[in-house]
Amino acid sequence: MDNTALLQKYSLKATPQRLEIVNVLSTHGHMNVNELYSTLLIKFPSISLATIYKNINIMLEKGFLLEVKLSEQKNVFELVKDNHSHVACMKCSDVIDIDLNIESIVNEVKKRSNYKLESNSLIFNGVCPRCSALK
Ligand SMILES: [Zn+2]
Ligand SMILES: [Zn+2]
Repeated sequence: MDNTALLQKYSLKATPQRLEIVNVLSTHGHMNVNELYSTLLIKFPSISLATIYKNINIMLEKGFLLEVKLSEQKNVFELVKDNHSHVACMKCSDVIDIDLNIESIVNEVKKRSNYKLESNSLIFNGVCPRCSALK
């Protein structure tokens, strides 16, 4: 499916700005709002930060984007995909996906809390190999 069809599947009009957001997120994986803004400025020199926020918000609302809430740095956005965990670098803000089998943790939480669980997000903070090498 191309990105236009992908956006339309989520009832989002495929504007050039949205297509570019999809493009850069599929290349970079995770980006915060400032990174998205400075990347989109290359193609759309007159785009405003407010426009970026507006697009991100509607894409979040439609379930097309996910927001990863980080404790140490600005939240990042990614294209929606299967549930996964994250590792975030505290120095350069790099964020990567890790597919973990957390079934036993989820079951343990259910058992101890008696909650009906809806979602979860595991985030590990540390220093990435690149930053560890730059001492
Ligand atoms: Zn790093
Ligand atoms: Zn992710």
